[in-house]
Amino acid sequence: MHPASESPVQEPADRDEPAVADETRRGLQDTFGRVAKDLRVSLTDHCNLRCTYCMPAEGLPWMAKPQMLTDEELLRLVGIFVDLGIEQVRLTGGEPLLRRSLPDLVAGIAQLRPRPRIAMTSNGIGLARSAQALAEAGLDRVNISLDTIERETFKTLSRRDRLDDVIAGLAAAAEAGLTPVKVNAVAMRDVNDSGVADLLGWCLERGYELRFIEQMPLDAQHQWQRGAMVSATELKEKLEERFTLTPVGQRGSAPAERFLVDGGPGTVGIIASVSAPFCGACDRVRLTADGMVRNCLFSRGEVDLRGPLREGADDKDLVRLIRGEMWRKASGHGIGLPDFTQPARPMSAIGG
Ligand code: SAM
Ligand code: SF4
Repeated sequence: MHPASESPVQEPADRDEPAVADETRRGLQDTFGRVAKDLRVSLTDHCNLRCTYCMPAEGLPWMAKPQMLTDEELLRLVGIFVDLGIEQVRLTGGEPLLRRSLPDLVAGIAQLRPRPRIAMTSNGIGLARSAQALAEAGLDRVNISLDTIERETFKTLSRRDRLDDVIAGLAAAAEAGLTPVKVNAVAMRDVNDSGVADLLGWCLERGYELRFIEQMPLDAQHQWQRGAMVSATELKEKLEERFTLTPVGQRGSAPAERFLVDGGPGTVGIIASVSAPFCGACDRVRLTADGMVRNCLFSRGEVDLRGPLREGADDKDLVRLIRGEMWRKASGHGIGLPDFTQPARPMSAIGG
């Protein structure tokens, strides 16, 4: 039995999108009426941490440079997405701060019209040095991943002794006005789950907005097990041992259910991506560092833009490929269903 919250996945009835004269006019619709507004762009699959829920200790066979989009290619594609109605561009990876040209890319995206909001999801290592320059280039805000504030637990979970760098990165982001500074955390059973209330207290003291994300089957090792996952319900119970949580407003297309902590103004978010999927309100589309468009983190298909782009495709051809991929978007990810299979690409090569 799959949980009541998850309906069977529906594939689009007609996988061929009807042709229209103006290809950009309708935005990035799918057959279920959802319209993509949020583009996640992976800048690299490389990373300087080895979080156990993401990749193995030895790392992964990283993409070779010629496989990756150049800055020019990437900016051209992001520009096409903005013409198609994208309102927010989130830079991610792998670790986006490892892309040396990051400030130039941010500045290039900030030149697009209508100017999209520019956000970044990062582990924060090195941000202490670059936050100001990134803010000046046009970065609007950041989500920094931090699963624990205990040094030994951080080392166990990320397999690197870099807690101080992440903490310095967070402080620099706040100082540079990349606000609200959000913190993303994944709770792992018997690793960091006993410290979730400490992490929340620490974030509240510093004015960071903490959001917990349920662990998803996107690790390169394919070791995820539903039974081992700390669910949103369990997490909320753990936080409620120390804090009073009051639900805040409507979720809309935002994946996090937000709660006021001890009457506010501080809040905490819980993203129940597995136990209560928000696929029905999904407004996301993804571009990988090697130029593939994915309509979902969990999609098993993707469409190549890099090949056609390097063979001289014009914008109209690329628009058609992007729109076609959105048209093939399924109704949901189906993690809880018996026939679910994990996508071949791990999270670090898709862009989280
Ligand atoms: N390296 C950056 C970072 O860690 O923020 C950006 C890429 S990372 C893949 C993006 C987000 O995905 C992080 O917040 C990370 O914690 C989360 N993540 C990675 N693997 C996950 C998994 N299996 N389940 C849930 N979240 C995961
Ligand atoms: Fe790197 Fe982010 Fe994956 Fe951790 S979650 S290994 S920081 S890509």
